[in-house]
Amino acid sequence: MYDVNEVRKDFPILSREVHGKPLVYLDNGASAQKPQAVIDAVTRVYSDEYANVHRGLHYLSNLTTEHYEAVRGIVARFLNAAEEDEIVFTSGTTEAINLVAYGWAAPRMGEGDEIVLSVAEHHANIVPWHFLRERQGVKLVWVDTEPDGSLDPEKVIAAITPRTRLVAVTHVSNVLGTVVDVKRITEGAHAAGVPVLVDGSQGAVHAPVDMQEIGCDFYPITGHKLYGPSGSGAIYIRRERMEEMRPFMGGGDMIREVTKEGVLYADPPMKFEAGTPGIVQTIGLGVALDYLMDLGMDNVAAHEAMIVSYARERFKELNWLNIQGDAPGKAAIFSMTIEGGGHAHDISTILDQKGIAVRAGHHCAHPLMEHLGLTATARASFGLYNTTEEVDKLVEGLELAHRLLG
Ligand code: PMP
Repeated sequence: MYDVNEVRKDFPILSREVHGKPLVYLDNGASAQKPQAVIDAVTRVYSDEYANVHRGLHYLSNLTTEHYEAVRGIVARFLNAAEEDEIVFTSGTTEAINLVAYGWAAPRMGEGDEIVLSVAEHHANIVPWHFLRERQGVKLVWVDTEPDGSLDPEKVIAAITPRTRLVAVTHVSNVLGTVVDVKRITEGAHAAGVPVLVDGSQGAVHAPVDMQEIGCDFYPITGHKLYGPSGSGAIYIRRERMEEMRPFMGGGDMIREVTKEGVLYADPPMKFEAGTPGIVQTIGLGVALDYLMDLGMDNVAAHEAMIVSYARERFKELNWLNIQGDAPGKAAIFSMTIEGGGHAHDISTILDQKGIAVRAGHHCAHPLMEHLGLTATARASFGLYNTTEEVDKLVEGLELAHRLLG
């Protein structure tokens, strides 16, 4: 484990105040703050070495290309992918899942083919599949979460039929923090010959992840939740799937040759990276992942597990507080409602006045909200730099909200 007070010094924003109170940042599930190393890297690239990548035969272009391309290896190491060519850079998870939907799924799915999803998916792992339903008659098959917020892997596997072409499930729910047994789901799906996409947006943030151990086919991550710049991200794509995939966007950088008659594409992964990419964002992502690997993702997981058990103990004192889906082993994400009153937006406004940042709303997960019978929750999502003192401040803020609203 690390000394959290030392780690906090790496994140300059954590020492600012909001409404005259020290910032308590508990909206990491939406986006995490950045360590100085990432901020410095972004500034250094712009002030010292910036040029476009892959094109120039000049010094700065070569230097930027070298730093940008090195991130592929860093992402591969972070995810323990077998090869760095299984990593495609994207602007985040949303683009990555759309790449899979357009590049891999759309050409191989027709009327009546099925995609198995859980109700706990983020809209980014739902709407691209609805496009296939609307345009190609693909059927979406939904698996519910259990009353404790967990997702039973056997129910996901049991939903597979001879028409299933893909299973798409989240690794960790961005609303409930539930950790899904994606290794078991992948084993079961692969036994039926069905590829698996695991949405790693939250999963890769809270604990070490290993592509070779999980064995899935697609695993997108998003940089801004991994303490890196917004507009950065990547997706792991198993080599066999990448070979089956068509490019999604066309343009420069993804071609070997273009003539009036046709196109010869670049080899994967470049084939899937059209246009000038998020150069500086991606270099920043590399620095963020190096930061995480230096800290140790198992240390991050241990720290957050400690926060979860401390928060659970403190929340027990608040018998009017409902925690949605508090499954064992969950990640440090708590979705809350106050019994007898208090809209999530009002709770978050009261907390905000105390300098505490939480998210209120449906968290881009309408089907899950419908399943839970709710329209909104207040969500406190903890990161690697949060402390037990901040849990105490949250509890004080919730007590105030209960007095005012309950
Ligand atoms: N999936 C999950 C589980 C998420 O939490 C999020 C971000 N809230 C996304 C997908 C979408 O990520 P992005 O907006 O960075 O593309």
